[in-house]
Amino acid sequence: MSPTVAIVGAGFGGLRAARALKRASVDVVLLDRHNYHLFQPLLYQVATAGLEPEQIAKPVRGILRGQRNLDFRMVEVTGADLAAKRLLTEAGPVRYDFLILALGGETNYFGLDSVAQHGFGLKEVSEAVAIRNHVLRAFEGAMLGSDPERRRALLTFVVVGGGPTGVEMAGALSELIRLVLVKDYPRLNIKDVRVLLLEATDRLLAAMPERLREAAANKLWHKHVEVRFGATVEDYDGERVRLKGGEVIPAHTLIWAAGAKASALGARLGLTTGRQGRIVVEPTLQVPGHPEIYVVGDAAYLEAGGQPLPMMAPVAIQMAETAARNIVRTVRGRPPQPFHYRDPGSLATIGRNAAVAEIRGIVFTGFPAWVVWLVVHIIQLIGFRNKLIVLLNWAWDYFFYERGARLITRE
Ligand SMILES: Cc1cc2nc3c(=O)[nH]c(=O)nc-3n(C[C@H](O)[C@H](O)[C@H](O)COP(=O)(O)OP(=O)(O)OC[C@H]3O[C@@H](n4cnc5c(N)ncnc54)[C@H](O)[C@@H]3O)c2cc1C
Repeated sequence: MSPTVAIVGAGFGGLRAARALKRASVDVVLLDRHNYHLFQPLLYQVATAGLEPEQIAKPVRGILRGQRNLDFRMVEVTGADLAAKRLLTEAGPVRYDFLILALGGETNYFGLDSVAQHGFGLKEVSEAVAIRNHVLRAFEGAMLGSDPERRRALLTFVVVGGGPTGVEMAGALSELIRLVLVKDYPRLNIKDVRVLLLEATDRLLAAMPERLREAAANKLWHKHVEVRFGATVEDYDGERVRLKGGEVIPAHTLIWAAGAKASALGARLGLTTGRQGRIVVEPTLQVPGHPEIYVVGDAAYLEAGGQPLPMMAPVAIQMAETAARNIVRTVRGRPPQPFHYRDPGSLATIGRNAAVAEIRGIVFTGFPAWVVWLVVHIIQLIGFRNKLIVLLNWAWDYFFYERGARLITRE
């Protein structure tokens, strides 16, 4: 009988691991609470009415159709009996010989309950759609009332966190408003609209070289985003953002892009966790004391050059390939090999014709970086249909200054 490899999570890591085991003499059981694989890097485009959710997500069963050794189950994994090698799910236990945990991460509000309650995270499709609805509803609300202070608060949009997600979100939101919504709301006084990007430190895109950090900040200013450094959010009640130091910003919308942490399930399994709640793994990606368990992607804590590997898609994908290869090696009686990360570089877009890129030590900005960003994201999207539709969508929006998905739908 072939050994069973259970994979928890059909994100970047889990999906790649499942595919890498396609020809292996193992039975693969892939478990996820959703029936789709989500391309998270484009979530901000759903939140800003540029794309529909189905253009950045694809059903797992469709992606892995034809993989004979695979069984997909849409279930929530709630725990595990590690000694008995059994996962606990809402639909009963799942036995395994090898386990790959590709659980991903969740939004880290750093204990700010008021922000978690009244602000928006950007991790799930539902959150992106909720942001889109909320932003568009704020514009409708601003057209109805006569109180100027209320109108200004409705039209003030605060994005917190100067990492790639915050930068991309703030740039896209400002463009949605200034290129598209101004046409929908001809009575709108654009001076009432503010998009703020709040960053607690003194820099944006901290992992990028200084030249790119400065270029990103300049471009955001150019796109009418008010970038504020040293701005630490302490409280938000849905109408007022209170900063450390006491300043209060009236704002009806707060989008939290300031932190990520690993899925809480890792800690619940009783495994040792490091920074951001990520499960500590050995260089082979195995859990200490449990050689049959591998952890990949955002959920795994592994250092390279004294720094933890970033919570990014290429790390998850490469780790998944190593974990799958190590399982095949073990089945064949060979020792597992250590993981080595090959950094493909980093990219962030700030909107139309504007991006910053660092690829193999070469840094560049502006239109060339934006074209590279477009190509890389189109290539990485899963499914030819999605690639084609997204490309057409972007081309249409580029030439006609449009955002087709600006519907307020019921939540
Ligand atoms: C808004 C946003 C923008 C980003 N932009 C970029 C970018 O531009 N470039 C980049 O490289 N990275 C980006 N990232 C990070 C990147 O998406 C992650 O690093 C990557 O998704 C990690 O892959 P993963 O397989 O570890 O987890 P994920 O892709 O998050 O997948 C985890 C899966 O596990 C499932 N799951 C979790 N717990 C359970 C459970 N208990 N039971 C069942 N299923 C479960 C989830 O439903 C999910 O499908 C971005 C992330 C976000 C949120």
